[in-house]
Amino acid sequence: MSDRRRHELPPTAGLPLQLADLWPGRRDLATRVATQIGSPPLILTCSGSAAFMVALKTLAARNPQRRRVVVPAYTCPLVALAVHQAGLEVVPCDVRHSHFDFDPDSLRNACDERALAVVPTHIGGRVADVADALAAARAVGAAVIEDAAQSLGARAHHASVGLAGDMGFFSLATGKGLTIYEGGLLVARDPRLRSELVRTAHELARPDFHWQSRRCLGLLGYWALYRPRGLRLAYGKPLRRALRANDPVRAVGDDFSLPLPLHAVGTWRQAVGARAAVRLPDFLYACLERARRHVPHLKSIAGVRVLEDAPDTFGTWPFFLLVLESSRWRDAVLEQLWPAGFGVSRLFIHALPDYDYMQGIVPATDVPNARDFAARSLTIGNSPWLTDADMDRICEVLERTRCS
Ligand SMILES: *Cc1c(COP(=O)(O)O)cnc(C)c1O
Repeated sequence: MSDRRRHELPPTAGLPLQLADLWPGRRDLATRVATQIGSPPLILTCSGSAAFMVALKTLAARNPQRRRVVVPAYTCPLVALAVHQAGLEVVPCDVRHSHFDFDPDSLRNACDERALAVVPTHIGGRVADVADALAAARAVGAAVIEDAAQSLGARAHHASVGLAGDMGFFSLATGKGLTIYEGGLLVARDPRLRSELVRTAHELARPDFHWQSRRCLGLLGYWALYRPRGLRLAYGKPLRRALRANDPVRAVGDDFSLPLPLHAVGTWRQAVGARAAVRLPDFLYACLERARRHVPHLKSIAGVRVLEDAPDTFGTWPFFLLVLESSRWRDAVLEQLWPAGFGVSRLFIHALPDYDYMQGIVPATDVPNARDFAARSLTIGNSPWLTDADMDRICEVLERTRCS
């Protein structure tokens, strides 16, 4: 698709900021979000990964003899890096066929008395099977940490995600809905555990002028550029450059390095987030309405599977996660749509063991379903600017390339 498009759609639905959000104000971001989602008090951290590290360090201090952390083999590379930085061992566990949930048999093989934690992961607003992770973890005395980085606002069985396990965390990074450019929220139901987490979080998060200023500038940039015209510069150009250089890992921003920063979050960004958070419920509802309109269309294409809500769960819709019948078809779609400004992209490029930079961090493991998921899946950003005409074009390409 070679037409020069008027605008650039983002790969995920971020909540846009308004000028009035930028004034200094009360830093009650964590309290406000906790009230919205009906959770116990939330602990604000400088990133989702930082929240995860706080959880891991706290657990490791309680159980020094347990060192293994079982994570889905298809997840954000930051998860593996955070485990490593916390001084623990990553155990990648294969997922179910055509899904991101743990494969129940692989999970039981991965869990033994050396396991510190199991990390069921709510991908793209879809609610993961926490009950099975809990069963496998409890059988060996391990804890469950829900990775809800991509799913703030999602609910399961009438409660927010993150509350069924021992702990849960959300990300406030750019593109994950509500954002303060980089940030995280950590939750635990048990008050004793929570006060230990608060202590760990405080120890890890020192004030840091350098990171604090960088994140403030980043948030200003987000306010200025997170709109179709700005996204062309901030997202589209670097994306197309990475694709031309044949570097898909850079194209989706999967190229991370250690150490992950740990620092306090300043007052101003908290105030900005708190103001934007007021609009989050309406924003998520609008995303849901678009999903209700578009998912039937996508599903009507033979050979396309759209990941939807499991019974009694109510997810959020930052993007549509599709699994196509073949990787050849998936690649043909991406060749046309990835550079074309429609917000079509991939989630994570590889299964965890397959990133070059994971050598020495993630053990080489046979994870066929995770590899297959990486090869056959794609995402369509469900941003406020996605029009019916955009979706028609996307569906047209899906249909046209099917037998390629
Ligand atoms: C983004 C993400 C993280 C890490 O969150 P950050 O705020 O970027 O550190 C963890 N897990 C998943 C599934 C993610 O998508």
